[in-house]
Amino acid sequence: MTDSRRDLPSVGSLLETAGVKLLLEQHPRRVVVDAVRDSVEAARAAGGGDKTQQQWLDTISSAIRDASRPSLRRLINATGVILHTNLGRAPLPEAAIHAIQQVAEGFSNLEYDIATGQRGSRYSHCVGLLTQLTGAEDALVVNNCAAAMVLTLNALAQKKEVLVSRGELVEIGGSFRIPDIMARSGAKLVEVGTTNRTHDDDYRRAITPKTAAIVKVHRSNFAIEGFTADVSVEGLVFIAAEHGLPVVHDLGSGLMLSLDAYGLTGEPTASTAIASGATLVLMSGDKLLGGPQAGIILGKEAVVAKLRKNPLTRALRVDKLTLSALEATLRIYLDPTRALRDIPVLSMLTESVEQIESRARAVTAGLASHGIIAEVVPSQSSVGGGAFPTAEIASRAVAISGDVTAFEERLRLGEPAVIGRISEQRLLLDLRSVQPREDAALTTAVLRARA
Ligand SMILES: *Cc1c(COP(=O)(O)O)cnc(C)c1O
Repeated sequence: MTDSRRDLPSVGSLLETAGVKLLLEQHPRRVVVDAVRDSVEAARAAGGGDKTQQQWLDTISSAIRDASRPSLRRLINATGVILHTNLGRAPLPEAAIHAIQQVAEGFSNLEYDIATGQRGSRYSHCVGLLTQLTGAEDALVVNNCAAAMVLTLNALAQKKEVLVSRGELVEIGGSFRIPDIMARSGAKLVEVGTTNRTHDDDYRRAITPKTAAIVKVHRSNFAIEGFTADVSVEGLVFIAAEHGLPVVHDLGSGLMLSLDAYGLTGEPTASTAIASGATLVLMSGDKLLGGPQAGIILGKEAVVAKLRKNPLTRALRVDKLTLSALEATLRIYLDPTRALRDIPVLSMLTESVEQIESRARAVTAGLASHGIIAEVVPSQSSVGGGAFPTAEIASRAVAISGDVTAFEERLRLGEPAVIGRISEQRLLLDLRSVQPREDAALTTAVLRARA
């Protein structure tokens, strides 16, 4: 038997072929050399180098394509979960994308006061809009809501005690556990009450001279039902006032407008949270607010000033691209009608089922004209990302039957990747989490993934 491995071309000889020489003109040399080496290695491992010149070229080109694809890339979210932490949470409004581009392209007044020609502060941006929109006295923007919590507790309660209800010691998205984050801040967590019930007196009894704050954590990704009791923020503010303590409300999601009219109830808005009297309210920028990843701290001027001076603020500081996107997103909220239309998270949440149905019909018609049979089926979307944990929003999905496991994989590995879900032997593509302008790309991706 001949050893076909001996027939393998050398890396050097492949680099000399006309086709690979052309690739060398288009791609960095190291990328091409690595692709050639990997292709030869793969052939050796597979036990043979019996390939035509063209086959080698195809293998090498495809290796270059894989190596040149960005690791972080756009995809189509057809899961029906709108705020999906694994899928990057909120898509940005166009105005925010434009703002990022403007600031990224040139220099900016990030820490420069144009009016006086003196040094300015990055923490001055967004403050006006945040206070105007929420009624808070002052605001500070940091890297994310977890950072906001660490900073807050470090500034207010280092080496002191912080009271939290046992029913609020939550984990968010696997890597964020409130008790762990609190411990890192240097504050000592004192658990009060039980998992299902916490009363005024539980807090009162736990207050000692070492107590520095009372924290309320919004149960953003689960609900406790049945025999339950907890103390409202107003109640906590009353108790805290008896001892001159601050109340910190970790709101999580950052809803800026009531969505009651759309059947999404029970999630407090930032302004109602501020109106409840908490000293500080903490929230994310990339959940229901619909902007970039950021941690927003709203509250009393003297306390926010203290946070701003804390050295940790420097370590948790927000970057200019985030600030530009956040400012542009906040500005949209000055006109609530525009916000519901132009902020993708809000337009997805509030789009009518009839509208989604008609988009789904258009997608299935597009597929049918190329021989793919799909049907429109009722689906339930969810908000995700730590908000409205029990809400199910009526939606429509494009359902495809057949060998769904293989089809799901081809769709996921395609360009752009499409992420759907399999249910009852069907692949479901829920259109509520797909932006209408992505419908055509979705249709094309499904056609390409066809066996
Ligand atoms: C999501 C969430 C956080 C964490 O926010 P990040 O911006 O992801 O750091 C903290 N607290 C609550 C209640 C949340 O829902």
